[in-house]
Amino acid sequence: MADAILYRIQRGHGPPYEGTAMNTNEIIEMFGRYVIANYGRLPRAIVKGEGNYLWDADGNKILDMFPGWAVSGIGHCHPKVVAAIQKQAAELLHIDNTFYIEQQGKLAKLLSDRAFGGKCFFCNSGAEANEAAMKLARRHTPKEKYKYITTEGSFHGRTFAAVTATAQPKYHEGFLPMLPGFDYIPFNDVDALRNAFTDETAAVMIEPIQGEGGINVATPEFMRAIRELCDENGAIMILDEVQTGIGRTGKWFGFLDYDVEPDIITLAKALGGGVAIGAMMAKPEVAASLVPGTHASTFGGNPLACAAGIAVIEAIEEEGLIDNAIEMGEYTRNKLEALKKKHPVIDHVRGKGLMIGVQLTTPGAEIVSRCLDNGLRINCTQENVLRFMPSMTVSKEEIDAAVEILDAAISD
Ligand SMILES: *Cc1c(COP(=O)(O)O)cnc(C)c1O
Repeated sequence: MADAILYRIQRGHGPPYEGTAMNTNEIIEMFGRYVIANYGRLPRAIVKGEGNYLWDADGNKILDMFPGWAVSGIGHCHPKVVAAIQKQAAELLHIDNTFYIEQQGKLAKLLSDRAFGGKCFFCNSGAEANEAAMKLARRHTPKEKYKYITTEGSFHGRTFAAVTATAQPKYHEGFLPMLPGFDYIPFNDVDALRNAFTDETAAVMIEPIQGEGGINVATPEFMRAIRELCDENGAIMILDEVQTGIGRTGKWFGFLDYDVEPDIITLAKALGGGVAIGAMMAKPEVAASLVPGTHASTFGGNPLACAAGIAVIEAIEEEGLIDNAIEMGEYTRNKLEALKKKHPVIDHVRGKGLMIGVQLTTPGAEIVSRCLDNGLRINCTQENVLRFMPSMTVSKEEIDAAVEILDAAISD
């Protein structure tokens, strides 16, 4: 198998990858006929992932520095996650929340032990986790409080409340009017935050580092002001850690880099190591407001997804991946800083841990596509911010290879 893969890599393009019946063009054609075209897709069909590499249906090997939009946070098909899923699949795939579920309780404990002794509600995605958080904030605060403060450039998901919370006009186009009760302020603007508070404010929700918004790191002053103003006004502080959570920033959660504790955090992406899962974790006294009948999810917290989540957390711990994220994050930023000296098109590099943005002075789409042609997957957001978010298992050699390909792509 490995030899077969290598053989095809050396040859570049080749016959359909072993185990798939179709090549990339055939798969793309099938999409044209049967799949709704709501995504701008790269012209590749991926059939295998292992660690920090992908293989497409034509046998090309791709170094992945943006694995699954941060979902594959410990690399593709991490052996411990695969083993946990295989074992759980043979025991019990799904059981409804009418019963107690051991894996759900265990995963909740693992999360709780790592952040403010919180209590968890499980769902299946980031948007759902944020919906749960917004509903809980309303439930927990007095009836007249129904408003949310969110920030420009944020991204909270695509369901109606989550996309209303997402203060970027492009995501609202064609869907107006949005839900009532949302006030938008500029990110990191303490005065605007103070002015936006009213007696009707139920919650403030931000990302500790805006991901889709272009890797914008919250200032300590902004975080502190949110905490203080929420306390003064009896409002709930929600941190959307869907992208920052589970070690990527060099801490288990992004908020641990600040001296404030939120009331609620939301998680998804990397939590399941590739399996769909979302979670909302709230301080116990806040969590108490979500009594039977107030909220639910059919698939949320099922044994399979929770077994994957447990394996992810154990793998991070056993393999020292948080330390690796810190070290490799610094290494990557240094390499990219060096690249900046060579290429004036790089304005600056920002971020934390393995959440890294490269601000360009020009649009980045062409660089992304040239990188892909040369075997490297990165992302571009907000038109001119390249996003490097490699898995926490990434090595220096892999970063070296990635930066080399990026260097050549910019030079062209
Ligand atoms: C991806 C993302 C979401 C949405 O998650 P889905 O699983 O796509 O619903 C929400 N918030 C942040 C910060 C994200 O990065």
